[in-house]
Amino acid sequence: MGSRSRSRFSETPAIGCPELALSVSGVIAQSFYARAIRRPKTEEKVTLETVACNLCGSRRYTTVYEMPDVRLFPDEYFTVVECNECGLGFVNPRPDRQEIQKYYPRDYYQNEESASFARYLRKRFTQQARYLKEVEERPGPRKLLDVGCFNGEFPRFMAARGWDVSGVEISEASLRITEFPVFTEEFNEIPVHAPAYDAITAWAVLEHVHDPMAYFQKASQVLKKGGLFVFQMPNFVSTASRCLFWEDVPRHLYFYTRETVAQYLEKTGLVLEQEDNRGNVYRSSPASWLPYMVRTRLQRKSFTYKDKPLSSKEFRKVHHLQRGITAGLKYLAYSPASVVDRMLWPALEAVQILRKTYGSSTYVARKP
Ligand SMILES: [Zn+2]
Repeated sequence: MGSRSRSRFSETPAIGCPELALSVSGVIAQSFYARAIRRPKTEEKVTLETVACNLCGSRRYTTVYEMPDVRLFPDEYFTVVECNECGLGFVNPRPDRQEIQKYYPRDYYQNEESASFARYLRKRFTQQARYLKEVEERPGPRKLLDVGCFNGEFPRFMAARGWDVSGVEISEASLRITEFPVFTEEFNEIPVHAPAYDAITAWAVLEHVHDPMAYFQKASQVLKKGGLFVFQMPNFVSTASRCLFWEDVPRHLYFYTRETVAQYLEKTGLVLEQEDNRGNVYRSSPASWLPYMVRTRLQRKSFTYKDKPLSSKEFRKVHHLQRGITAGLKYLAYSPASVVDRMLWPALEAVQILRKTYGSSTYVARKP
């Protein structure tokens, strides 16, 4: 068991993705919202590290886009690249394991406390649990390790379904967990070295870590034969992830596709069984899709972060407007394409799910 005395964010970024969890509607409004809030510039200069591809080791990559830390430091821009050899997406250069602590604000770990949010969580956990149904139906005791378990809500939900649960959580959120064991170091450093678990889950975790390969290796090492590794992450094939500045950089460091996930699994002795590309766990809105299409297809121009219109919420904040008809009309005048865009979301999402280009994917892998 890891020590609980480690200071907050003592070494590494927090795992888990509560900024997604905060969004009941599934619209990833939190990070976009932060764009409208001007914060002071970073006081100290951050040293960035340039890294090779975590999946294949190549140092040849191409820039996909640049965007700022919309949540905390709107003046700090980061570059997302794609490996020329294997297609893995990653922030490069990036804050190292020490520096990244600066990018995890204290309120990163606060969940909304309301009845509607509790209902949303129950619904999401029920969806998540479906991926473990096969193991759940096996006779005898079954052990689950939830990596990036935050304040323990998902393991608690699974314990109620008869699982023997434990978690991994490096942030202070783990302090609130008393009913089951929690490792407080990074997953790849936990003191378990033999197959011990029937299932391992990682919901919105692998985009946050500095060394995803170490996480896949560890999952393979500590899973029992026939056990499942279930993980959810952004889909780098999606327009939302690649073109619409949806990602929460630099907290999101890695961006995956079905192909790159398959390679990680192959290299670590796991077998891909299922890819679910739809919004059943986390929804991903195609916000700004129409302005993006108008600019890139009709006007034949590039679509940079600065070309992305403010959301209506950001617009109201910037112009100190209350929600209402006046604000609505002003927003319509500011960006008519965004208003039409919002109406198109349900249709766009349906098309994305059909084409497997939805912004979020869940994978199920097995230890053979
Ligand atoms: Zn690569």
